[in-house]
Parts: sequence; structure tokens; C-alpha cells
Amino acid sequence: MAKVRLENVYKIYPNGVKAVKDFSLNIQDEEFVVFVGPSGCGKSTTLRMIAGLEDISAGRIYIDDAVVNDLEPKDRDISMVFQNYALYPNMTVYDNMAYGLRCHHVKEDEIKETVRNAAEILGITDYLDRKPKELSGGQRQRVALGRAIVRKPKVFLLDEPLSNLDAKLRVQMRSEISKLHERLKTTFIYVTHDQTEAMTMGSQIVVMKDGVIQQVDTPLNLYNHPVNTFVATFLGSPQMNLLEGKLGKRGEEWHFASGPLDIAIPEEMLLQMNGYEDGLEVYLGVRPSDISLSERGFKTRIELMEQLGNETILYVYLPGREELSIVSSADKNLRLMSGDEISISFDLQHIHLFDKATGSSLVQANVANAIEVEATREEGTIHIDGFEVDEEKAAHFLEDDLRGLELRVSSSDISFDPLPGSIAEKATIKKVVPFLSYDVVFGTVKGKPLVAKTAKAGLKEGEETTIYIPFEKAEFHKGGRKVYSALLTKEDRGVEVSIRKTRSATILLLPKGRKAKDKRYLVEKREELNDSVVLLLKGCKTREKLVVRAASVDVFEGQSVFAK
Ligand code: ADP
Repeated sequence: MAKVRLENVYKIYPNGVKAVKDFSLNIQDEEFVVFVGPSGCGKSTTLRMIAGLEDISAGRIYIDDAVVNDLEPKDRDISMVFQNYALYPNMTVYDNMAYGLRCHHVKEDEIKETVRNAAEILGITDYLDRKPKELSGGQRQRVALGRAIVRKPKVFLLDEPLSNLDAKLRVQMRSEISKLHERLKTTFIYVTHDQTEAMTMGSQIVVMKDGVIQQVDTPLNLYNHPVNTFVATFLGSPQMNLLEGKLGKRGEEWHFASGPLDIAIPEEMLLQMNGYEDGLEVYLGVRPSDISLSERGFKTRIELMEQLGNETILYVYLPGREELSIVSSADKNLRLMSGDEISISFDLQHIHLFDKATGSSLVQANVANAIEVEATREEGTIHIDGFEVDEEKAAHFLEDDLRGLELRVSSSDISFDPLPGSIAEKATIKKVVPFLSYDVVFGTVKGKPLVAKTAKAGLKEGEETTIYIPFEKAEFHKGGRKVYSALLTKEDRGVEVSIRKTRSATILLLPKGRKAKDKRYLVEKREELNDSVVLLLKGCKTREKLVVRAASVDVFEGQSVFAK
């Protein structure tokens, strides 16, 4: 049982492939986390770095609260199960399972009991005397699982363990692994490229693409609130339709238009939308199951039809799309044929909008609220709307003049109950929209819109209330720049050098062409701010610290750099 934490982890292979980039993740004790994404997106590399089978290029990995970067795999108290079961062919099932324990000099009596127990859990007691070649694929995979569980690890790592099994066995093993997790109450990290495996097994899913985390969320939230077109189309089958079109404003209403298709955006959705403007090119996303046949809908023609037994899939042409779009219907007895004219309509509660240029969702499950605050600095003491910032934190403000400061806070970090160490603001509630396990609250603070996500708080529309923003969760901006950084203290700010951006560079971070007299620094911390990367450098011989701002720097924490 253990927590696992990854902080800004990078993997750059010697051939230059950046397999994993800036991977940060908190895994709770006993959680079942799934890494999912297309082949080559860096899932296995991340798992192997947690296991210690692969060095990490930068960042830190913690198991519980200890950094394990330099710990040997055998000392990490983890077990790993691979796709190819990697059983010893000449040993019996019993000996395969006992092998790891024997290596750790466990007494034979104890081994016997542990192996028997594990065999019982996995239903392989009858095969203990067999050799692996006398077992089916499913049985072999169970032995591999057994070998991992007898070691009672703190963390269980599974790398595509079911890929070699046939479809039926995969479904069966899926539920067995879930049951095993419940029984062992250990942290599981599971890698798969199969979205169904991810959705059915994980309590928390990490969707990856090109070495970068796209979204970390529960299965339902991923399905209902994908943050970009990649996640939207990767999960769900048949996949979400994306229609190209434009947003337009008519009076107070906003519309999505694509040729003859014109859809008014529901107000609830607008309130949760960020960064949209008249004429913005967007994709409207709609899942096939959210399109229904209806008299008053959009007219089109069935190009192709597939009867699957429990549902029917219709393929139609929709504007803004070159390929066929899919409409699925649960109606088994649909009396339609290819070529028939039909009318379809979209369930407006379940449409999605994505910025065409970036692919990002315009609907943010977590809106970054911007609240203008009155901040003053008097004799070193900072007050933000009446809240006194303690001395240590005050040192992290990069500006002396704090007029025009804007506080940004994500909707899930706002509390309606008093919290110590938080900034209080008066708010008016306009609308409360209930979701399954929380409410989305729309309101205003100082006349500006506010969106908060809260566990059922019993708030009423029209009510005046107070919201509490924990200082730790707030970001501070001024004129579009971040002006608070926990990384920088006043003393550290002494030297700010702009490199690469201007020719007047005085610091070169590249080891190439360095001279003997160049000074060596260790990159102690790396932080990405709005328009630059800030490195906190520590002199290797002296205790001198430098802060370097750069437009983009390919050096990471733990590496050395050389400066003139
Ligand atoms: P996934 O598990 O998501 O399929 P991997 O983590 O195996 O992806 O690989 C991520 C990327 O790193 C891929 O581009 C792959 O080709 C590359 N890669 C994996 N292992 C090595 C290696 N040992 N040397 C160089 N490149 C590698």
C-alpha cells in the first residue's frame, strides 16, 4: 500500500526520442490508475521509470514520501506484470511463484502458505505442479499475476497484461484483475492501449499522447467532459462526430453554424465556456448516441446502415464534414433503408465545442475564474481584499506595485464554507445546475461571472453568499503575466538574464563549446511561467544561486549547465 507521485518527469532516450514530457501525477494509496493512449505515447516508459527499469532524464518520482529516483528496482517494493508473462519454462508453477520469495530468503514454510493462498485467489491450485507449457494463455497470465502478488508489494505495475489473450478471456481476466485489486487493497498502475479496458477498470484514468498527459479524470468525466478533441475521439465507440463550423453571436444568443445546420448554444453551456468570440472556427462534437431521429430535426439521407442486433448504426453526410457521420439508434426494429430521407436532431445537453485551432474544449469543467482584487503592499505587508499574506509567502510576489492584480482560481478550488488561510469574497448566486455528485454554481463576484463546482451545498438561486479561496490555490496575474511564484524569492531574483531571446546573452546554458573556466551550475528547479522558463541554478562549488529566464530551454532539473 503506497502513494506514488511523479513530479515533472521527463524521459529522453539516448537516440533523442522525447518519450515522456513533464509528467506530473498524484496517485493515492489503493487507487487503480490506468495509463491509456495510442501505441508509442510513452505509457510503458512511464511505468518502467516508476519500476526503476528505466532511468529518468529529469524530475522526481516518490513512493510514499521518499524520492526513489536512485533506488534499485528491487528496493522499491513493487511488482510488475508484463504482457509476455516471462515465466521460467523449466520450473513448475509452484516454483515460478516461489522464486522471488526464495531470492529474499523467506522460509520454505512461509513460502508454501503464501503460494497456496495466492493460487487459491487466482484459481490455479490444480496446476501448481505443471510447467508453463502445459498451461493455456489465461492460466499463464494468472501465474504471472500470482508471482507478483506473493511478494505483497506496495505498488502493483501491470503493462498490457491482457494483450496476448483472446477477446473472451480478456473480458474475464478484466473483471478478475478488478476483483484482485479489491481483495489486495494495493495501489495498481495499469497500462493499456485499449479504451474499454481503461474505462471499465480504472478509478482514475490518465490519457496520454506523444509523451504528454492530455487529461486525468474518472471514466465518466472523461467521457462527458473531454478537454480536447483527442480525448473526445479516443474514448467512446463509435467515436464522437466532429463537425466543422463557426460560432456567431445574434443578439444575446450564440449559435454554431455549418452550412444549413444552425444550433443555438444552451445558456448553461455558454456560462461554462472560456475564450470564445464571434466568428471563431470550432468543431462541434456530438456522440452518435446523442443524435436521434426526430420529425423537426435536420434533414439528411442514410448513406449506409449497419444492423448490429441490439442497435442500428446509420451513416449520413453532415455539413462541415467530409466523411460520413454516425447516428446510432437503440431501436432494434427501425424500418429504414439506405437512401431513405431522415431528420435528425442533437441532444443539446450533450454537445461539445472545441477550438479548431488548438483542439481544446471551450467548455471547461474547471473554469479559471478571474477576480479583480485590491492588493496593497505597505512596509512589506501585503493585504489582498483584507486578507493578510504571511511574510514568507509575500516574498514570492515578483512585483512591488500590486495595483491591478487579478486572482485566478479554478472552479473546483472555491469553497462555500469558511476555510482558514483563505481570501473571502462576496458572491451572488444566479443559477445552480445539479450534476451526479456535485453542483455547478453560476454567479457573480464584483459584477464579473463566477463558476464554481461544489459538493451539494444547498445553495439557492438569487442568494447572497461568501466564497472562500484558499491562498495556496490562487494564482496571481497582472496584465496577463503571472506575478507570484513559489519558486522565486526576493533574494533569488537578483540576477535575471534573458538568453536566446536577445543577443545580449551573458549566460550560456549549453555544455557545447564550454571552456575550462566556465562555471558549472546544477539546475535545482525548473518552472514554466507564461512566456518563459525560469531555472533556479545552484553553483556546484559555491552556494551562489542564479535565476535565469529564457524563452525555451531544453534543460531539466538535476542536470548541470555551464555559464560564462
Ligand atoms: P507506449 O507504451 O505508449 O506504446 P513507449 O513508452 O513504449 O510507448 O514508447 C514511447 C516512445 O519512446 C516511442 O516513440 C518509442 O519508439 C520510444 N522508445 C521506447 N523505448 C525506447 C528505447 N529503449 N530507446 C529509444 N526509444 C524508445
